This record gives sequence, structure tokens and C-alpha cells, in this order.
Amino acid sequence: MNEFASALDHVHATLAGLREQGVELRASAASLARLAATPTAAALAPAPLPVASPVVETRPLSDKPAAPTGAKAERLAELRSPVLACTLCPHLVKSRTQVVFGVGNPEAELMFVGEAPGEDEDLQGEPFVGKAGQLLTKIITAMGYARDDIYIANVLKCRPDMPPGESGNRKPKAAEMATCLPYLRQQIDIIQPRALVALGATAMEGLLGAVEPMAKLRGRWHEFNGIPLMATYHPAYLLRNQSLTEKRKVWEDMLLVLERLAKPISDKQRGFFLSKG
Ligand code: SF4
Repeated sequence: MNEFASALDHVHATLAGLREQGVELRASAASLARLAATPTAAALAPAPLPVASPVVETRPLSDKPAAPTGAKAERLAELRSPVLACTLCPHLVKSRTQVVFGVGNPEAELMFVGEAPGEDEDLQGEPFVGKAGQLLTKIITAMGYARDDIYIANVLKCRPDMPPGESGNRKPKAAEMATCLPYLRQQIDIIQPRALVALGATAMEGLLGAVEPMAKLRGRWHEFNGIPLMATYHPAYLLRNQSLTEKRKVWEDMLLVLERLAKPISDKQRGFFLSKG
């Protein structure tokens, strides 16, 4: 036991040292996703995924071990510092726990964009970590990716404040998103993904100023900064509307993304959420 306690102390000291050096630590959600079996239709069911395991990786969140160069990671790291200290929206600075910059692979060919951090994201400092985020991870896995193959960010980097005494999350205002959009634009400029996916009509409003229902926006390609942009429903919508039809709509949008990226698509994947009758 003494040896074990000593080893544990050593690990804690090492991790503390790494934190002081600015290295972020997190559980390996991606490795869990890979272990979560071959993608199946059930993988998109909105049942909660296992919460990240206590496995600790001592590498930057936005770094990928096999990245050919660190140029994009370095540029993202340079951008990250001023964004984390941003005070352009004083009302959000007052209420936020922290700025939620973004997470994932700086070399990602695919980038998901949401509207703003919610309560869970504000607390954890990472986008899409609540129930909707767990469902997004299942969608990513069903597409044949791991979560850390992708880059995920929001248009608004700080959680929208709530009126005193009210809980929950509110939709970001157009002016708030416009103030913060340059940061996302820079992230996209650095990463240069081959495709973007906007999650929800509010994210589309933030990106393109498109104030239209998702039913009209989804299922077709748009463009942001010269990069193909697909719009689809926010995973939170699927948590509220669990019909096969709505799941299939999102899945068809993801099939269009996979086709655009020339990814292999199995017959099984093509058949997800099709009515058996
Ligand atoms: S929402 Fe964006 S622009 Fe506003 S304070 Fe946060 S990081 Fe800065």
C-alpha cells in the first residue's frame, strides 16, 4: 500500500507540474468512443454515453500525436491565450466560469460548430460535453471518426448569461455572436477543414446571418469562408424529438458530409434509421 500511495503521489506531482507548464489534461473520451464498438444505428440512440474514464492523457487537448507538423496546433495555441482572456462582452465575463475555446484535432478535415456553451460546457471548459455533446460523440463515431479526429467549437465562446434566479441556457443574441465570430473565423482559417457542420439554426445564424428554420437550411450545402458548410439539427433537438424520422434527417445530412469527404460508407451505415416497414 505504501508503494502504491507513493506512486500515486508521484503521479499527482507530475500532473500538477504539467498543469503549471500549461499542458491540459483530460480523460480519453476518444479512446472510449473507439471501444464503444462498431457504429450501429443504436449508437445514435440518445442514451447517455459512459462518462469519460479516469484515464489521463498528458497531451494538449488540441494536439494530435500523429500530426505531420505542429504549425496549426501552435497557431491555435497562440490564438487561445487572448481568447481565454477576452473581455469584449462584459456581461458574459461577469457570469462565465471560463471561456470555452474549442477542442479537437488542429488537422481535422471536419469541424462541427455549435451556438454557445451551456452550463456543463461552461463548467468543464470544453464544447459539447453535456447530454447533447454525448449524442454528438455518438454521431461522430457512427460516421467512422473518433471525437478527437474532429474539431469542435462554438460561435460564441462564453455561456450566455441568465436572468437572476433563472437556470438553464438561453439562445445567444445575434450581436453577441457577431462580436465573437472573428475568433471562430480565425480557428477555421487555421484548421482549414474540408467541411463544416453547423449544429442548429442559431449556429447558422451566427455563421451566415441566416434566420431560417432548420427544415429549410438542412440537407444542402452552404459555404462559409470558401469552405462547404452543411447545416443540421442540434443534437439537443434529437434529445427532444426521438423519432426515427428526425434521426434519419440528421443522419442523411451526415451521409452528405461523408460523401463530400469521399469517406467509405458501408451499406449498414446507409441504412441507419430507415423505417423497416
Ligand atoms: S463571448 Fe466571445 S467576444 Fe464575448 S467575451 Fe466571450 S470570448 Fe470575448
